[in-house]
Amino acid sequence: MTGQPLTTGKFNDAKTVDLLPAADGGSARSLVARLTLAEKVQLLTGADSWRTHECPAIGLRSMVTSDGPAGVRGTTKDERRPSACLPCPSALGATWDPDLVYQLAAELGAEARSKGVDVLLAPTVNLMRSPLGGRGFEFFAEDPVLTAVLAVSYVRGVQSAGVAATVKHFVANDTETGRWTYDARISESVLHELYLMPFEACVREGGAWLVMAAYNKVNGTRMTESVRLLRDVLKNDWGFDGVVTSDWHAARSTQATALSTLDLSMPGPDGPWGDLLVRAVADGSVSEELIEDKVVRLLRLAGRVGALGEPGNRLAATPLVRGGLGGETIDGNHTAPAFVHDDLLRDAAAASFVLLRNGDTILPLDSGALTRVAIIGPNALYPVIQGGGSAGVLPASVATPAQAIRAALPDEVEVRTAAGCQTWHSVPEPPAESLRDPVTGEPGVRLEFIAEHGSVIAAEHRTSTNLAWWDGVPPGIGWGESGRLALTTEFRAGTSGHHVFSAAGVGSLHVVADGVTVIDGETEVPGDPVEAMTRPGELRAALWLEAGSKTRLRLEFRPAADGAGPLAVRLGIVPAADDDDLLAEAVVAAGSADVAIVVVGSAELTESEGFDRSTLALPGRQDELISRVTEVNRNTIVVVNSGMPVLMPWAERAAAVLFAWLPGQAFGTALADVLLGRSEPGGRLPVSMPAAESDSPALHAVPEADDTLSYSEGLLIGYRGYDAAGITPMYPFGHGLGYTDWSYESISCPQELDAGRDLEFSVSITNTGTLPGKEVVQAYLSTPAKSARASQPVRVLAGFAATRAAPGESVRVPLRIPARVFARYSEELAAWIFAEGEYTVHVGRSSRDLKLSATVQVNA
Ligand code: BGC
Repeated sequence: MTGQPLTTGKFNDAKTVDLLPAADGGSARSLVARLTLAEKVQLLTGADSWRTHECPAIGLRSMVTSDGPAGVRGTTKDERRPSACLPCPSALGATWDPDLVYQLAAELGAEARSKGVDVLLAPTVNLMRSPLGGRGFEFFAEDPVLTAVLAVSYVRGVQSAGVAATVKHFVANDTETGRWTYDARISESVLHELYLMPFEACVREGGAWLVMAAYNKVNGTRMTESVRLLRDVLKNDWGFDGVVTSDWHAARSTQATALSTLDLSMPGPDGPWGDLLVRAVADGSVSEELIEDKVVRLLRLAGRVGALGEPGNRLAATPLVRGGLGGETIDGNHTAPAFVHDDLLRDAAAASFVLLRNGDTILPLDSGALTRVAIIGPNALYPVIQGGGSAGVLPASVATPAQAIRAALPDEVEVRTAAGCQTWHSVPEPPAESLRDPVTGEPGVRLEFIAEHGSVIAAEHRTSTNLAWWDGVPPGIGWGESGRLALTTEFRAGTSGHHVFSAAGVGSLHVVADGVTVIDGETEVPGDPVEAMTRPGELRAALWLEAGSKTRLRLEFRPAADGAGPLAVRLGIVPAADDDDLLAEAVVAAGSADVAIVVVGSAELTESEGFDRSTLALPGRQDELISRVTEVNRNTIVVVNSGMPVLMPWAERAAAVLFAWLPGQAFGTALADVLLGRSEPGGRLPVSMPAAESDSPALHAVPEADDTLSYSEGLLIGYRGYDAAGITPMYPFGHGLGYTDWSYESISCPQELDAGRDLEFSVSITNTGTLPGKEVVQAYLSTPAKSARASQPVRVLAGFAATRAAPGESVRVPLRIPARVFARYSEELAAWIFAEGEYTVHVGRSSRDLKLSATVQVNA
């Protein structure tokens, strides 16, 4: 290795504050020396679900953690304390824009800081190994270089606000099925060249302050117990000086986790350390030195986030937030939240949309030429702005695509909307306006916490009927407790007909409608505790209601004795509809319109932490809907609202296909901007779109009966696998059209390179279209034939740069391939080596649209 940066990309300088404004000016070690063993050990387990312990004697306050990556929730999930909802990381991956990611992350850091959060549990830098991966929307890409570049920017952005980033989940937590226990079997070279690479970049280049050890095992050892990966690789080889935290409940042993150099066991206050660890030190199985190293790291983190020292020091240690966003922490008091700016969210979403196809250049639409527009599809009316699981946040407001497109079109354009079909897996939350709190009379529900004998401990008004708590419920209410929760409301039906009512939660559920019990039963405890929140068991009933009628409802929920994870309860109500009728209505709307905009995609629970998808097909009858709409309207524009690949058997029949990911709260406005040409769809695919499920190089990531999960495809995931097998994907990695055309004119590249050095070269391109635009110039590298291994990728992404130009303008785009991309990890030598020989650099618009190439001789 040289001292050159591992990855490519231009970064703003992150502002970091290093140690250690201790009250007495002393060092972390001298502070540690003032603590008893029990005090030291206590600091190493959380104080509760999200906070670390304080220790006033040494000027240490509690530090607050909160999930990312697409927003910062704070310590509660509560619609009364909203958060900005960013485009999901796969959307950020599609921007190929490290500066934009930095800016978003810096504002997210500021929002976190303003909410009193010290540690953001993000970014997630696992790789999209299988397109079915339930949490793929939380990853940036299927490629390690693209992931690394963007993740480093994210880390630097968050930390520029004085908030720690936590790079997760270390490592090989690329799939959800069996995530608590599976044993990923991966060769050392594949581990280093693919899966560790983004973590290494975040540590060495991003200067990340925390790393989160995953639930799974790698090559037989739990990640929280891996001396090899935590101590030897992360800390010794990469020089990581921050804190290794466990994923929540991932520390499951006392001695092995302590010896592996895990530093913090989360959540607390219980866990495998505490007294047991004190005893392990007393009996000599864990050294006190090791404990002290963990505490020093924790104090270093506290110094970095301003949680250590006298209040005066603390203020000095908290870097000022860029751009004067306001809401900074001053001496532990928090002002109003500083939300990520709406304009930035809107521009970022547009920059992530990938135009896959634009037949007859139908996009952008000329709104002046339109008289009648049909806006169709379940996601036009019920968009999915984010994936499920711990990453979920509650934004203050969301404009649906149907609302935002309507608002953006001239008033005289006639707009018809139609859902076309239903895709929900769990009965949707009713709009707050259809509900009335019986006590306050406001839109929403009355929530009561009820003790065992029926007395109401606390009550409050809520506007959401989808409620979750990690903690913060009154004593006596929770898993294995005898208390219960009750939601009371009056529902006003908007239409006449059958309505589906549901109650969801892990435990016993009872719903009374106008004095009659309509639901009474128990749901099962799911295998993964996060599912208690993401997809708890649901019980349903159907009632026939007249439009305008009012129904008094009371839902009571007693959590299961053996439940675990966040406590959640949900009341759903939706008018029952017949898909045949919905389809017919949509076809009629499309048939008489100039243009049909069909927004399809995932349903609320299609993509989530806790489980993988079982299919890449769009849920429900959406494929049929698109086919039927394209039959009656050749100007059909399909917008796909999914965080990961879906099958698009209808793509060739649509005039245009736009992939919009899970774009956060600005979905509607950004989509209107792009469709009407106010923004260019700036995205390029960070993941291959398969033509058929079985084409995917690593599809079913399901552990064997012995819990092993073989990464037998080696380096050949994503486009590397398609290229090696000679399979053409539906749309390749890197593809994306934008609104203009480009010609690639020349490449200027040195003919020779000393091994261990970065390769710097440039490419000249011209905007040959009629609109100004953005181009992402991509460089791929092929290794010399004679040094190729059996499973060597044909070529790999080696560098990229985004540029902009006006129509007719030519630009010279500088590119850099970092030395590391030329190197391979030798298992025999346990080191990176450079093979001599002739390498080929290809540049182009995607992994399958290579325009120019040059050869370079690498000499040892
Ligand atoms: C997830 C983490 C998350 C943690 C806390 C875990 O289940 O895997 O990504 O940070 O919960 O919510």
